[in-house]
Amino acid sequence: MSKPQKPRILLVSTGGTITMLSDGEGGLSPCADAGMLLERVPELRALAVIDVLPLVNVDSSNLQPGLWVRLAQAIYERMPFYDGFVVTHGTDTMAYTAAALSFLLQELPKPVVITGSQVPLEDLGSDGRSNLINAFRVATLDLAEVALVFGSLIIRGPRAKKTSVFDMQAFTSVNAPPLGTIGLSIRLQEPYRTRSKRKPLLRAFLDPDVAMVPAYPGIRPAVVEYLTSTHRGLVLEGFGSGNLPTEGEASLCPAIAAATGRGVPVVVCTQCMVGSTEMELYQVGRAALQAGAIPAMDMTPETTLVKLMWVLGQARDLPTVESMMLKSFVGEVHETG
Ligand code: ASP
Repeated sequence: MSKPQKPRILLVSTGGTITMLSDGEGGLSPCADAGMLLERVPELRALAVIDVLPLVNVDSSNLQPGLWVRLAQAIYERMPFYDGFVVTHGTDTMAYTAAALSFLLQELPKPVVITGSQVPLEDLGSDGRSNLINAFRVATLDLAEVALVFGSLIIRGPRAKKTSVFDMQAFTSVNAPPLGTIGLSIRLQEPYRTRSKRKPLLRAFLDPDVAMVPAYPGIRPAVVEYLTSTHRGLVLEGFGSGNLPTEGEASLCPAIAAATGRGVPVVVCTQCMVGSTEMELYQVGRAALQAGAIPAMDMTPETTLVKLMWVLGQARDLPTVESMMLKSFVGEVHETG
């Protein structure tokens, strides 16, 4: 009897702590060769036949939205040749990239798994080895989602958030249960999409000209006026259920109404980690809604920003932008009504 064939996995590296080395001045910076991932964790070859695609090698703080498109394109073009994809990435902006890949690559027939580490693979006590091995294990499962694998969690791309710079469990699944957990075995949790013969779609629309700012006590309306006159869209992180200053000269409502009047969407998410905007609840949220603000519901700020860039890449008129922001494309928002 012939041995079952190992799955083929493409490892796409982009940099991040997992492949970093100390630069001699005490700071961590990207090392030269991403091939070290396979050299340091050779047991990965027991799981799969692996090719490596070193796309870039940067600290993810330097990663710009254009790279999301390159990454999605690189995966899309190679989709027929592999059974799954693992992307290594810095943790700092991994949640943004996970959200972006979810919107850019739809109708996935196989898994795209993104991972990284808190401690360089080279260092004692690194979480890089286990995260990488687990990412490969997940990339061979009967799963067809963009998933972020970190610590013991498998998180749907648009629901991931970096919540700790200290804990090895650096990411949390926000406002949705994780896709699965990793312990003695891997347990996936329904609902999730399974592998199929469906044709993937590259929906690589992106207008990165979007700003994001939190509301804070003392925020001047000029901040909103400036950002909405220099960008094509704004994400405002509101207080609590999407509340904003609405009284007297500090009111943000005239600036929101003016932006909306010019066709510049202002999307309001919550700066709380758990829960949804509920802008009808308080007068201060209602006034912002009446001024034209679009609620982000239970999307994280990261996902709201990426989604607004993606939506503006394909639509400009505000009613379409609003209905797309409220619709769930990849499980990023809990649709109401
Ligand atoms: N600054 C690093 C990065 O995002 C942090 C990490 O990877 O953990 O690239």
